[in-house]
Amino acid sequence: MFDKKPMCEICGKKEATHFTLERPDTTDNAVIKMEGKWRFVCQDEDGYNEFTHISIERFFKTPSATVDLMAHTHEKDWMNWDNFMDMIHRFRTATGSFFKS
Ligand SMILES: [Zn+2]
Repeated sequence: MFDKKPMCEICGKKEATHFTLERPDTTDNAVIKMEGKWRFVCQDEDGYNEFTHISIERFFKTPSATVDLMAHTHEKDWMNWDNFMDMIHRFRTATGSFFKS
């Protein structure tokens, strides 16, 4: 799928399979939004819930899938886009995803 395999940001040993919001110690959405950190992780790492544990394969399966998942996530009031995009910048480096014309 990518030029380079992205390795899990938690264990560093297995290929990342999911974008996930690191499990916080609270269910308070305001706290999750401010303090939750998005990471790309392997299948061994737990996800907080189905909305914040997104299969990378599913996310990029088709252009429509990517658009739909981004729009769906944008509807969530707890979403911290700066934090998500910080992860995307690291994911770009980890996968060698730099556009070549
Ligand atoms: Zn891992």
